[in-house]
Formats: sequence, structure tokens, C-alpha cells
Amino acid sequence: MIDQFNPAVCGVCARSAIGIGHSPPRASKILWLCDDPKCIQAAKAVHSMKQDEFTRIESLAAAKGGDAGIEFLETIGKTDFTAMNIDEWSEFRRRIIAGYRAALLADMTGEVVL
Ligand SMILES: [Zn+2]
Repeated sequence: MIDQFNPAVCGVCARSAIGIGHSPPRASKILWLCDDPKCIQAAKAVHSMKQDEFTRIESLAAAKGGDAGIEFLETIGKTDFTAMNIDEWSEFRRRIIAGYRAALLADMTGEVVL
């Protein structure tokens, strides 16, 4: 689980933050962001989100990332990691992370991911 105010990651989609921050007047913490316009647009709502709600959404996104990895395994017809070549293994990991980030962004911004 990440802290939504971690300066290293975007507080909306978990990609690398690039130094863009959002903080309402008199707020004690800065929500760091990537350069995705959707993240910048969602910053105000995410900043006021309670950590337990953020954690709940993040947990759902992690599950969706796992689902994306399973989808890839079904596509290549392999479930034995030792039978994968390096490209398949790399793509499997990329799908999980990309699925997690896409779901996190969608859930934070209220979009629906199928
Ligand atoms: Zn972002």
C-alpha cells in the first residue's frame, strides 16, 4: 500500500511523480502528481480523500492488475512461470503493473474499466 502523499509517486495513478503538486490552502500535505491531465484534474478530489478510502481503491486496483496478468497467461496458454521465456515473463509483470495503474487512475477519477 502506498501513502497517497508519497513524493515519489503520483497520488492518483501511482506512476512516477514529476514535481507537480496539489495542495489546497492551509493543507499540511502535498499530493504529488504525474503529468497526466486526468491526474491533475482529479487532484483536488483525491487530496481530500481519506487514507482508508484511498487504500480501499488501491486494493481493488491491485486485484484488477492481477486480473490483467491472468488474462495474459490465458492468452499465451501458460501458467507455469518456469516455462515462460524472458519476454513472456517481462510482459506478464508489465501487464500486472499497467493494469494496476490503469485501474487506480480509473477508480480515482470515477471512470469505468471493463
Ligand atoms: Zn498520475
